[in-house]
Amino acid sequence: MELDITKPPASMQNPAPTLLGLDRAGIAVALTQFGLEAKPAKMRAAQIYRWLYHQGVSDFAKMTNLGKELRPQLTEHFDLSRPTITERLVSKDGTRKYLIRFAPGVEAETVFIPGVGRSGALCVSSQVGCTLNCSFCHTGSQALVRNLTAAEIVAQVLVARDDLNEWPTPSAGRQITNVVFMGMGEPLYNLQNVLMATGIISDGEGISISRRRITVSTSGIVPKMHELGEHGQAMLAISLHAVSDDLRNKLVPINKKYPLAELLQACKDYPGASNARRITFEYVMLDGINDSDAEARELVRLLAGIPAKINLIPFNPWPGAAFACSSWQRIEAFAQIVNKAGYSSPIRTPRGRDIFAACGQLKSASIKKRASERLRARSKNN
Ligand code: SAH
Ligand code: SF4
Repeated sequence: MELDITKPPASMQNPAPTLLGLDRAGIAVALTQFGLEAKPAKMRAAQIYRWLYHQGVSDFAKMTNLGKELRPQLTEHFDLSRPTITERLVSKDGTRKYLIRFAPGVEAETVFIPGVGRSGALCVSSQVGCTLNCSFCHTGSQALVRNLTAAEIVAQVLVARDDLNEWPTPSAGRQITNVVFMGMGEPLYNLQNVLMATGIISDGEGISISRRRITVSTSGIVPKMHELGEHGQAMLAISLHAVSDDLRNKLVPINKKYPLAELLQACKDYPGASNARRITFEYVMLDGINDSDAEARELVRLLAGIPAKINLIPFNPWPGAAFACSSWQRIEAFAQIVNKAGYSSPIRTPRGRDIFAACGQLKSASIKKRASERLRARSKNN
C-alpha cells in the first residue's frame, strides 16, 4: 500500500473536526454537515471566518454574533484549538523562532524575521522534513515526516500573530507584513495545501496579507510551477544555487529530473511574472564551489529575458556540513558583477543564527534537544 503523505495518519487526527484551515465555503459545508440549513450555514460561515482570521479568536464563546444557543453546540462539536508552541527562542537580532507541535512527533519550525519587506516576514514550513536532499541544507538531511495540512500552515501565522499580539488584523503598523514559504520542506510537493493556505492568508476579510507579499520558494519542481502561478498568484522564488547542470545535480539533486533549461523555461512561462513582479533567484554562497566571477557572469547570461532579482544567501553552517561560506569579499565581488548587469542582488543578512533560525538550519536545534532529552532520561533511569 502506498503511504499517503498528504494527510495526517488517522491515529494523529483530532477526533473533533477543526474549522481552522477552511475557507468560507469549507466552513459552510462543515456547518451543514453539523445540521444547519444551507442559507444560515453560509451566513454563519462568514461570521466565523471573520472571528477566526480577522479577530484571531479560537473560542466560540467569544463569537458574540453567533447566537447564545449555537455557541455551546459548536464548542461541543468543533475544535478550534491552535497547535502548541513547544519552544520559543528570541535571537539577539529580534528574530523569533517557534517550534510548533501539530501532533505527537509532528513538529515544524516557523521563524519571524523583523525588518524584512515593509516590516517583517514570517517564514513558514510546508512539510515536516523534506524528501529532497540538497547537500548544503540541514532540513534536507532529515527524512520527511509528512506534509502539513492547510490548517497547519495557516496556524503558523495565527500562532505567530498571537505571540506578537497582533489581533485583530491591523490595517496599518503591522509586524508581519510578508509571508515566505522558506521554512522546512518543498512547498510544491504539497501544492494543494499551500494553495488553500495562501488563499486564506491573503483574503482581505481575514489575515489579509496580499498575494504580492507571499513568496513561495521552490527547489524547481517544474511541472507544478504553472499551477502555483495560475491559482496561487504568489511571488515565486527559485533556489538556483548553481549555473551548470553538473554542479546543480550535486547541490540540488532534483535538478537531475528537472534540469536548468527546463527550469528557466518554466520561469519564463510563469504566469504573472513581470518587471513589477519579478522572480527571485536564490543563490547560496559556498566557498570555492559556486562563487567565482565566471559563475556570476554565467548567472547573468542564464537569466536574460526573465524578470528577475537575485538574492545572494551567505551559507549558514550546521554541524557536520561539508561546506563553508564564501568570504565577504568574494560575495561582494560576485554581487558587483550581478549588479553591474542591472540586477538588484541584495545579500541576505543571516538572521537568527544564534538560535539556529537562519536559512537551512531549521530543525537542527529541536533534534539536538530531543537527543539531549533522551540522554537526560537515560541518566535518570540509570
Ligand atoms: N525547499 C524550498 C524552500 C525552503 S529553503 C527551497 O529549497 O526553495 C529556503 C532557502 O534557503 C532555499 O533557497 C534553500 O536552498 C536555502 N538554504 C538551505 N540551506 C541553507 C544553508 N545552510 N545556508 C543558506 N541557505 C540555505
Ligand atoms: Fe528541501 Fe529546500 Fe532544503 Fe532542498 S533546500 S532539502 S528542497 S528544504
